Amino acid sequence: MRQYRELAELYQELEKTSKRLEKTFLVARFLRSCTLEDLEPVILLLQGRAFPEWDPREIGVASKLVIRTISKISGEKISIIESRWARLGDLGLVAEEYSQRKRQATLFSKKLGVRDVLTNLQKIASLEGEGTIDKKLAYLSDLLLNASPLEARYIVRTVLGELRVGIAGGILRDAITWAFSPLPEEIFYKCKHCGAVVPASDKCMSCGNPLIPSKSSRELAINELLNSGSIKEQETFITNNPREIYNKLIEYIEDAYNILNDYGELAIRLYKQGLRGLSKLELVPGRPIRVMLAQKADNATEALETVGTPAAVEYKYDGFRMQIHKKDNKIVIYTRRLEDVTKQFPDVVEGVKKINADSFIIDSECVGVDSSTGKFLPFQNISQRIKRKYNISEMVRKIPVELHVFDIVYYNGETILKKPFKERRAILEKIIPEQGILRLAVQRIVKNEEEANEFYEESLRKGNEGIMFKALNAPYKPGSRVGYMMKLKPTAESLDLVIVGAEWGEGKRSRWLSSYYVACLDPVTGNYLSIGKVSTGLKEKREEGLSYDELTEILKPLIIEEKGKMVILRPEIVVEVTYQEIQKSPSYDSGYALRFPRIIKIREDRSPREITTINEIEKYYKEQLSK
Ligand code: AMP
Repeated sequence: MRQYRELAELYQELEKTSKRLEKTFLVARFLRSCTLEDLEPVILLLQGRAFPEWDPREIGVASKLVIRTISKISGEKISIIESRWARLGDLGLVAEEYSQRKRQATLFSKKLGVRDVLTNLQKIASLEGEGTIDKKLAYLSDLLLNASPLEARYIVRTVLGELRVGIAGGILRDAITWAFSPLPEEIFYKCKHCGAVVPASDKCMSCGNPLIPSKSSRELAINELLNSGSIKEQETFITNNPREIYNKLIEYIEDAYNILNDYGELAIRLYKQGLRGLSKLELVPGRPIRVMLAQKADNATEALETVGTPAAVEYKYDGFRMQIHKKDNKIVIYTRRLEDVTKQFPDVVEGVKKINADSFIIDSECVGVDSSTGKFLPFQNISQRIKRKYNISEMVRKIPVELHVFDIVYYNGETILKKPFKERRAILEKIIPEQGILRLAVQRIVKNEEEANEFYEESLRKGNEGIMFKALNAPYKPGSRVGYMMKLKPTAESLDLVIVGAEWGEGKRSRWLSSYYVACLDPVTGNYLSIGKVSTGLKEKREEGLSYDELTEILKPLIIEEKGKMVILRPEIVVEVTYQEIQKSPSYDSGYALRFPRIIKIREDRSPREITTINEIEKYYKEQLSK
C-alpha cells in the first residue's frame, strides 16, 4: 500500500515543473511503482477527486470549515488562523504550519495510506442532510491529526478543490499509457543519456538526446499491436515511424477513456490485461459520459469547410443540454457537467418514456416554453428549474419545457458512438415520436453555403440562437471539441471565463462585489490565467436580470482571501463575457487583456474545466490581426 506521504512528495515535485513531459514522466514513474490496489486511490487523489469522473459528487469543503478544523486540532483561535491565512494566501500552507506545532502532541498518530485518505474524502463527499458540517469536521480532523505537515498541506488543498499540481486530463492519460503500455520494451525506450523511460522517437522526450531504436524490436511492436485484435485501421500501422505508433496508441487509449470516463478504471484494465483489457468496451446506461463539444465558426463557408458537404444543419436551441439515460425502465438525466437533475424534471422523465427503445443514451437540448404564446423562453428561465429543489410540480407548470433530441450514442444494448452521425440520426428518426415534450431537432441536409444561410435565417426567425453544422459521417467523440460539430451564431464573439477574484464597489455599490477578475484555462497545466477585470454587463436591480447583488451573493461563499477592497475567489463560477478586442497585456497572467469586456450571463452549465482556453484566446487574437 502506498503511503499518502509518497503521494504528497509527488505533488511537491509536480508543482516544481510546468513542463508537460516532465509532469507526465513523474506521474508515470509513480504509477509504475504502484500495486493494483493502489491505482484507484492514487489516480483519484492525483485528480483531487473522491469519486471517478462520471460521479458528480464533490468533496465540497468550505474554507471556513477548514479553519474551524485547524482551530480544533491546534487549539489556536480562529481569528489568528485567519490572519495567517491572509498572510500566506493558502490554507494548505496554514494547515502545514499548525501541523508542525501539533506534532509532539500526537506521537501515536498512524501512518496514512492513500486508501485511508481516499476513504475519508469519500465519506466527506457523500454526506447529505442535517449535521453534515459537524461530520465533515470530524472526518477532516481525523485526517489532519494523523497527517505530517506536508500531508496536511495537500489534504487541505484537496478538500478545498485547490490541488493546483497542474495535471490536466491529457497528462494523466499519457502517464497511464507510459506506465502500463503492454509493450514497454518496444514502444518505450530507456534513454541511455538520462535514464528516462520515454516513448520511442528519434529524440528522447526528456533530455532531447537521440534515441536509437533497433529495427527488430520496432517490428515486433507493430506486430503485437496488430495482433492484439483491438486496434482498427491496421494499414496505418505499417510504418517505420515509432512516433506514429505512439500517437496511435494514445488515440486508442483516449477512445477507451471516452467510454469509461474513469482514469482509475482505465489504468486498472491496462495493468491487468494490457490493451486487450480495453477492447469491446461498452457504455453503461446510468453512468454519464462527457458530451461532444462544438467548435465556433465565423460563417457558413468556414463551417462547411470543416464538416464537409453535404452536411447536416440543425437549429441551435437556446436551452440546457441534457444527456438522458434509460435502462430497465429507469431514467436518469444529466447536465453537461454530469450532474444528476432527474428529480427537477419529472416532466422530462415522463416524456422520454415515449421513446421507442428499451435502453438508450441520448443527447438533447431542453428548452423552456412560454405556455401562453408557445414561444421559447430565454435560458435564464430554465436555469431556475435546475436550481429548484422543492415545489417541483409548481415549476413544471410555470416553466414547461420541450426536449429537442439531436444525438444518440447507446441504443438497445449497443454502444453506437462510432456509427456515422447520419446513421445515429436515422435511429432517432425511427424511435422519437413528436408528442408531448418530445421533439427531434429540426434538421436539413445542405450542399452549399446558400442553403446553409437560408436555414440560418429561418432558425433565427424562429427564435433560436443560431445553427449547428454536423459532419454526416463522423463518430461521436465524448469530451472533445473536434470539428464534427460547428456552431454559428450572430452574437459577437463571447468567451466563457471563470471568476477568480473581485473588488468591492464604492459609494452606493459598496455592499457589492462590483468588478470581477476573469481567467481562461491553460489546458496543459490545468491552471487558470487571468485575462482582465470586468465591471459592466450586470444590472442594478434583480428584476432586470443578473444583478451585482445576486452575483455578490453567489461569490461570497467562495472568498478565499481578502486584501483591502480586493478578494480572491475559489474558481467556480463561469461567466459568458463579450468583448470588442483582445490585446496583448503584461498586466495579466495570460499575457492578454480584453477591451470593453461585458458579462452576459452565468454559464451554469459549464464547469471551470470547460472554459475558453489560452490556446483559443491566442487563436482569436491572431484572427483579429488578420482581419
Ligand atoms: P455552446 O454552448 O455555445 O458551445 O454551443 C453548443 C451547445 O449548443 C451544445 O452544448 C448544446 O447544449 C446546444 N445545442 C442546441 N441545439 C443543438 C443541436 N441541434 N445540436 C447540438 N447542440 C445543440
